[in-house]
Amino acid sequence: MSKLTLDRILQSQGFGTRKWCRELIADGEVRIGGQPVTDYRTAMETAGLEFTIFDEEWLYREHVYIALNKPSDFECSRKPSHHPGVLTLLPEQFTWRDVQPVGRLDHDTTGLLLMSDDGAFIHAQSSPKRHVPKLYVATTHDPVTDELTAQLLSGVKLHDEPGPLAAQLCRRIDEHRLEIVLEQGKYHQVKRMLAAAGNHCSALRRTAIGGLTLDDLGLEEGEWCYLDDAQMALLA
Ligand code: URA
Repeated sequence: MSKLTLDRILQSQGFGTRKWCRELIADGEVRIGGQPVTDYRTAMETAGLEFTIFDEEWLYREHVYIALNKPSDFECSRKPSHHPGVLTLLPEQFTWRDVQPVGRLDHDTTGLLLMSDDGAFIHAQSSPKRHVPKLYVATTHDPVTDELTAQLLSGVKLHDEPGPLAAQLCRRIDEHRLEIVLEQGKYHQVKRMLAAAGNHCSALRRTAIGGLTLDDLGLEEGEWCYLDDAQMALLA
């Protein structure tokens, strides 16, 4: 259990500087239990705290764990250069909270992207030791053959990798699409593996991370949601 003053609570939730949060409170824009609270020194228990700002309801969250269905033409980098950053798809509060993508998808890759402001979670999820399987659907330029899937399963050599990289699972969906599961997260890995196997990836979509699937989340492209405990457990 921890109590914080209301200005600190709002600041921790990404509503801006302490000064700005104090102004919001003084202006009566912050309501708790339907009543405006205008003294920023009011100390509140943070766990389970619900509050309303500008008529929008919020729940206090120490950290946020988010799933985004990433559209094409958004960059995962902190300083995007050619396309808007994925953070522009989330409410502004998340930028203030320093929410970051967990790993990266290429700007033209679509699908499931995790985001959080919990450094330990980001680190743990991105660790090469964890081997969290990630499922992709790749569209290929040339037809998907048995030889291609067999090559991806047995391993292909990428020029900057010491040993061959293999897919955990790989299966043909139809003439120009395959499903591939990778446990590593090397740079452009699916595209480079397909190229090394003599094909070309013309579109890529990540559909699952661990047991968490985009289908179950039911997110349209560009939509996001908070992950609950049961969904977080699927990532372990
Ligand atoms: N592999 C790729 O080639 N690109 C991605 O964005 C993810 C995996």
